[in-house]
Parts: sequence; C-alpha cells; structure tokens
Amino acid sequence: MKIMNPATGQVLREIQDDTPDTVREKVERARIAQRRWATLPLDVRLDIMRGFLRILQERTEELAALLTSEMGKPITQARNELKGMPERVTFFIDNTATAIADEVVLRLISGRDGTQPPDLEERIKYEPLGVVVNISAWNYPYFVGSNVWIPALLTGNAVIYKPSEFATLSGLAIADMMHSAGVPDDIFATVAGDGSVGASLLDADIDAIFFTGSYATGQKIAEAAARKLIKVQLELGGKDPVYICEDVDVDAAAASMAEGAFYNAGQSCCAVERIYVREEISEEFIAKLTDRVDALVVGDPTHDETFLGPLARAQQLDVLEQQVAEAVSKGARLLRGGRRADGAGNYFAPAVLADVTGEMSIMQEESFGPVIGVQVVKDDEEAIECMNDTEFGLTAGVYTKDRKRAESILSHVNAGTAYWNCCDRVSPRLPWTGRGHSGMGSTLSLVGIRAFTQPKAYHLRRA
Ligand code: NAD
Repeated sequence: MKIMNPATGQVLREIQDDTPDTVREKVERARIAQRRWATLPLDVRLDIMRGFLRILQERTEELAALLTSEMGKPITQARNELKGMPERVTFFIDNTATAIADEVVLRLISGRDGTQPPDLEERIKYEPLGVVVNISAWNYPYFVGSNVWIPALLTGNAVIYKPSEFATLSGLAIADMMHSAGVPDDIFATVAGDGSVGASLLDADIDAIFFTGSYATGQKIAEAAARKLIKVQLELGGKDPVYICEDVDVDAAAASMAEGAFYNAGQSCCAVERIYVREEISEEFIAKLTDRVDALVVGDPTHDETFLGPLARAQQLDVLEQQVAEAVSKGARLLRGGRRADGAGNYFAPAVLADVTGEMSIMQEESFGPVIGVQVVKDDEEAIECMNDTEFGLTAGVYTKDRKRAESILSHVNAGTAYWNCCDRVSPRLPWTGRGHSGMGSTLSLVGIRAFTQPKAYHLRRA
C-alpha cells in the first residue's frame, strides 16, 4: 500500500498490507491474550493509559507533522487535535471505575440487626466484550480512534485497530505508543490496508465491531455484524444544519459558520453542512460569510498560517464539483470558489452557494469538503422543517440570543447533538451519537464507557 501526501501527490512510504491470514492470526492471538488482560486490576490498566498519554504529549509535534503529511490537515489543526487528547483520555481514566462498578439493585436481609449477609441480592456486573474491532476514519484519527480504544482497553477488552488507509502512519504510531506504555502487543494490534482488509476482519472470530466512517460502508458493516449476531456501533456521516435567527450578531454568526464549515477543509462529521438563515438578515449574513471565506488562508498545510489545506482523498474532488454543478444547474448562485485548483495536490477552492433548495444534493448528501449552501427561511417552523429534511441525524445548531427559543427549536430536531450558539464541537462528558443514517450507539460519556462491556445479572440467594 502506497501512503501518499495529498498536498503534493508524492509517495511518502510503502507499507505491507495485512492479508486474511495475518488478520486471522492477530485476532486469534488477541483472544488468548484478552483473558489475562481482563483479570488485571483496573488500576494497572489505568496506569498504562496514563503512560500512553504521557508519551503522546511528549511526541505531539512529531505526530502532528506526520498527520499533516499523510492526510493534509493544516499543521495548527493537527496540533489542536493532539492537544485535545489529554481531556478525552483523562475523562476515561477518571470515570471508568464509576461506569463499570458493580450495581447492587436489591438486598433483602431478614436478620433483626442487619449484620448478616443478605438472604437475596441482585447485582449487575459489567464484563468486557472480548475482542473488539475498531475500523476507523482518517479525518480525526486520534479523536475518533481514542473514543474506542481507550475505554475498550480500560474495560478489559483486546482491540484490533484498523486505521483508515489515509491515516495508516498515525495508526502505526498509536500502536507504538500503546506498546511503549505497556499494552501487550496482542492486546492492541493494528491491521493495515483498505476496505478489503476491513472486510476480512469481519470474517474473523471477533466479539464486537465499532466503526467510524461513511453511511455506505456502515451499512455493509451492520449487515456483516448481523450475520454473526455481534455487537455493532456505527459513527457515520452527517448533513449537519444550522439555523441563524434574525436577532444574532450577524458578523459573529458568519465568522462561526466560516469556521464550522471549513475547519479541517470541511472534513468533520459534525462540520456545518447546511445553513438556514432568516430572510430579514440573509443578504447581510451572506455578504459577511463570503468576506470571512475570502479571508481564509488556503495553502501548504505545513505552514502555520494555513487554515485550509488539500482534501485527504482525490476522489472527493469529483463529488464536490458534481454537487456544485448540480446546484448551479437548478438555480443556485455560486458566490465563491467551487472548483479544484490547478497543479499538484487535492486542493478545492472553498465554495459558498446561495439560493439553494432542499431538492439539491448539496443540501441532502454529505459534502465532506469545503462547500456550504445557504438557504433562506421565513420563520422558525420552516427552519425546523428544513433541518429535519434529511436522512442524517448527527448534530444541529441554532444561533439566537434567546436560549428558550433555541431549546424549543432544538427539541423538535431529530439529531443526537444539539448546539446553541456553537457548532462542530464534541465533549468527552456528553454521549456522541448519531440518529438515522448517522449511526447507532454512543461513544464518550459514561454511556460510551459501558458500551464496551456486557452486563451480567447475578441472583444471589443465601443457602
Ligand atoms: P469510509 O467508509 O470510506 O472508510 C472508513 C473505514 O472503513 C476505513 O478504514 C476503510 O478502509 C474501511 N472500509 C471500507 N470499506 C469497508 C468494508 N467493506 N468493510 C470493512 N471496512 C471497510 O469512510 P472515510 O472516508 O474513512 O471517513 C469519512 C466518513 O466518516 C464521513 O462520512 C464522516 O462523516 C464519517 N465520520 C463520522 C464520525 C462520527 O463520529 N459520526 C467521525 C468521523 C468521520
């Protein structure tokens, strides 16, 4: 497998792919090793994860440069991703004991003084799933990966990690840090390759699959998991809407939208993908948004001042050009950008389209690139209807000074995450969960720690 630099089109390294045989061997070794790993005291596993975090922090600059080289993320944004890791890892370290503590839900004691052992106790214990597979995306390899491997390892599972073929070098670096921190090689193993290698993982003897990626691949994963009747969680795409009300600070809202739509070249599952703006302020908002987009620095992702680098995947350039062309053919106004750049690298000029409608693919299908459509709405009811006009249900936002109004609107929107005056934001303390085509199951929060366990119900009656 050739690892390419998307900013230059040059080959960075060649890597040996895994084969169905090496995949099977890794899974078999993980199964044997997991039994011992699960019996270690939680404190031992917690210490190992603290060590992993220390190493990651020491290597931040080198890891950021590696990520930039293989997927084109601007270096400041690569650093931001790595600097966001301590908060996440620490959340898992601080909360795993609570999340998986035994729960006594009934205790009947017949003795008068209450000192005897109970006659009947009902207790829930949380056991690891076993061998957990994580097939992942490239856009935030550290964030989306750590949502799985850290809690999976802490709760006593073995992890077979398949990084995306567009973030393999980062995946190998993560494995190296895990092993240096004391995670046995067979407890955290990486599998390298493209989708066919991912598919072979699903043929192996695994207990659960946690997937981050597109809806199309998610469907295939869910079908394969259904045949085996194993646990499956899916974190898939989004078509995340934001509604800008008429009472906002227009310039601040435009600045927030330019950042939310174009950060990481729009390649975030929770990037702003659709904007609905009230007609009273629509002209002013669109003018301010285009000013903000004009000010974004597009260029070499290794430069500190660059905000927008190349896309990670060349094929997405075709998707974006088609979305823009179709929207224009149906009456949209292309105000900025909208075409690939000449020369080397997967660069796409950031696009702003006005006069878009719900019939256009740009308002229906995930763009996952630096493209945004702005649609005018006349009232809150129409905004709610438009926001719900999608198969996806990842995030939705409302910008207004009025919190009550925002919460009322958001209560009618079918999405796993609701934002008031913010967007493109993830918190380790809150469940990360998609509805509809955006996925199933939750990571992060206490719910996302328990996701890596299975409950066992104990009925304990004294003889
Ligand atoms: P993708 O579906 O193309 O690939 C994801 C992973 O699946 C890769 O590792 C790939 O090799 C593997 N794969 C492909 N075909 C497979 C198959 N048949 N069987 C098993 N594995 C297979 O997605 P991508 O381009 O890597 O990621 C972009 C998508 O991920 C976007 O839709 C984005 O919104 C989504 N995403 C969602 C979240 C979230 O939290 N909801 C986070 C990040 C990315």
